[in-house]
Amino acid sequence: MDYSQIKHLANPGATIEILEKYGFSFRKQYGQNFLIDENVVRGIVHNAGVTKDDFVIEIGPGIGTMTQILAEEAGKVVAVEIDKKLIPILEGDTLAAYDNVKVINQDILKTNIGQLIKDMGFEEGKGRVMVVANLPYYITTPIIMELLEKKLPVDSITVMVQKEVADRMKEGPGSKNYGALSLAVQYYAKPRVVMTVPASCFMPRPNVDSAVIKLERFKEAPVKVLDETLMFRIIRASFNQRRKTMTNSVCSDINCGVDKEKLLKALEMTGLDSRIRGEALDLNQFAQLTNNICTLNQQ
Ligand code: SAM
Repeated sequence: MDYSQIKHLANPGATIEILEKYGFSFRKQYGQNFLIDENVVRGIVHNAGVTKDDFVIEIGPGIGTMTQILAEEAGKVVAVEIDKKLIPILEGDTLAAYDNVKVINQDILKTNIGQLIKDMGFEEGKGRVMVVANLPYYITTPIIMELLEKKLPVDSITVMVQKEVADRMKEGPGSKNYGALSLAVQYYAKPRVVMTVPASCFMPRPNVDSAVIKLERFKEAPVKVLDETLMFRIIRASFNQRRKTMTNSVCSDINCGVDKEKLLKALEMTGLDSRIRGEALDLNQFAQLTNNICTLNQQ
């Protein structure tokens, strides 16, 4: 396809023209901060590593600024947009020239993403599925957790998020940003911050700094754990009350079902102090501790 006649949107002039043409006003509750910088848009798509063999799911296409570039680089793109006012702009105008893009007017948090991937025609072993997005910040954690935990055939997730959240995903023990999200992300994927993006690259400007993070999904988890659910319950309990020792935070959480005596024994078996806080443990130690609790449960 010849894309030379297409009017790309990643600049303030073209964006304002479209917004005015359709009388579109931004909706704060949908986290609408549209990209107006071509280098940033191309940088995200480049870092995602999209090729013509790949299937891309874009969350929140807005007026289609990044969707255009994705369509030019990918085999197929499905763009899921919650705001129905954007659909005529996308389908009737900015994406009309592309025959490999499908726009779906839906809330991504209520979308069956596994089914969406099947409907795209994706087959295991033929190309990759990637999620690429300038995410509305209010859904960052739930959507990333869903994509990782549901074990969907998603090869990588390359997304713009708040810089602070990007830091949280890649940190380890000793950092104030380290938490349950860090451990969940690092159990399923290798996180890498690939770009930091100033507020001036968006319209309207957000009040926070942003960063693009790429999560490359592991084929196999980096640690062996006998009961994933229990490990994540222990992790959540530890960070819900991060100032408390694990013997207090974990044992007072009924979801964990671990009594003090058993936890003390498991901590000792893992070589950890009985007064340790969860925030001091890395992923490997959480896995070992969980495995030791499982062993004690079987006795
Ligand atoms: N991709 C565009 C860009 O970079 O210019 C827009 C990004 S803007 C930060 C977030 C987009 O996600 C908006 O278009 C917003 O309407 C959409 N959105 C917000 N919540 C959503 C949800 N739950 N499901 C799907 N789209 C959503």
